[in-house]
Amino acid sequence: MSGHTIECPCGTVMRGADEDAVVAEAQSHAKSVHDMDLTDEQAREMARPN
Ligand SMILES: [Zn+2]
Repeated sequence: MSGHTIECPCGTVMRGADEDAVVAEAQSHAKSVHDMDLTDEQAREMARPN
């Protein structure tokens, strides 16, 4: 396991040490940048292992 990546549709790429970290990052990005509540499930679907 070497980390996970989530690419937001806006082009921002978030990277985390594991899926939980990148999910949390994506949720905070979605909230602060898009004023959108991303569920754990949605974020996990977008997460890709590096
Ligand atoms: Zn975005």
